[in-house]
Amino acid sequence: MSDTESAPTRAPIPPGNWLGLLGGGQLGRMFAMAAASLGYRVCVVDPDPASPAAAVCERHLQAPYEDDAALAELAGRCRAVTIEFENVPASALRRLAERVPVRPAADAVAVAQDRSAEKRFMAAHGIETAPHAVVERADDLHGADEALFPGILKTARLGYDGKGQAAVATRAEAVEAWDRMGRVPCVLEKRLALLREVSCIVCRGADGEAVAYPLIENEHRGGILAVSVAPARVSAPVAARAAEIARKLAAALDYVGVLCVEMFVVEGERVLVNEIAPRPHNSGHFTIDACAASQFEQQARALAGMPLAAPTLLAPAVMLNVLGDVWFRGGERVEPPWHDVLAIGGAKLHLYGKREPRLGRKMGHVTCLGATVEQALERAAAAAAVLGIEPPQ
Ligand code: ADP
Ligand code: MG
Repeated sequence: MSDTESAPTRAPIPPGNWLGLLGGGQLGRMFAMAAASLGYRVCVVDPDPASPAAAVCERHLQAPYEDDAALAELAGRCRAVTIEFENVPASALRRLAERVPVRPAADAVAVAQDRSAEKRFMAAHGIETAPHAVVERADDLHGADEALFPGILKTARLGYDGKGQAAVATRAEAVEAWDRMGRVPCVLEKRLALLREVSCIVCRGADGEAVAYPLIENEHRGGILAVSVAPARVSAPVAARAAEIARKLAAALDYVGVLCVEMFVVEGERVLVNEIAPRPHNSGHFTIDACAASQFEQQARALAGMPLAAPTLLAPAVMLNVLGDVWFRGGERVEPPWHDVLAIGGAKLHLYGKREPRLGRKMGHVTCLGATVEQALERAAAAAAVLGIEPPQ
């Protein structure tokens, strides 16, 4: 992919200047906090009046992401703009990029927005993914390789947290599921026996320098990330291969900013790419408390053209996602026992300021640090018990 940023736009942006943010959820909130710590002023665009990021940003443009006036103000005020979620329309990013550096660039974001484009990109760069078929018309399902069953049918666009997916045991089930999904473009993937799910967070600067955090091990429940353990309990060759894949992808995308690469470890210590997220990621939240610099600080540094920090892990860590479910133990809405969580040694609480807890809604996370992974896991088990969450595996 070509680098469209001209040399003058690469000059470092000193603290005190405005940085722009599209999307004001929890990832945007944590970015804004890190950017503010470095002395930047943050302007966020988000249609939600109760946006978690807006509560900590100096300016909130409450408007849709494609709103002309909001994009014009953002471009006028800010020296560079980033995103907190991949579904910001690529067209809005392209329009902004005519006036202000946008990091990551629209072309890289567009790859991550579409599972078919993502898989094509991996194939073009010799990176292995799950066996799959692109489904755009009925014939694609009728002609799909029998070896793809049992499989998972995933919508090409707008899926997240397991939404937009159907487990399909047979071709007939796949045809039915595709009808139910409204025959939108999909990808049919073979269901693999996963030994582990891992992710690698890499940050790449405009100068091409990249840093990768230690590999993270992830446990999903009901399609949503539940637990992350860092460093991942995998062999050294697996960790090295995963980091190499993440770095290779960031370079191939000519990426500037924080990129998360979700991967599957399967039989024979093979590492396959599942999907990529062109932004900080839930699995990287441990970096706030456990690393020399968080994924959000790196995002701010890369955006501002500042040197990246070493991604050094200072202590093993286990992160527990806190969903709205913990407010509804026993059927009634109750405030979770935060006091008891904070009483656990090494436990760090992060709440996102969302006013309405709902089942499945990401409300916060707890990171438990330890002298060893085992100790971090014990502490996380204690925090899980207090909150009524299933303990980490
Ligand atoms: P999302 O965008 O919702 O995160 P993913 O493609 O990452 O979608 O799928 C969500 C989860 O479903 C994965 O983290 C993994 O646990 C499981 N999964 C997805 N694809 C496969 C597959 N091909 N084989 C086995 N499990 C899968
Ligand atoms: Mg995923």
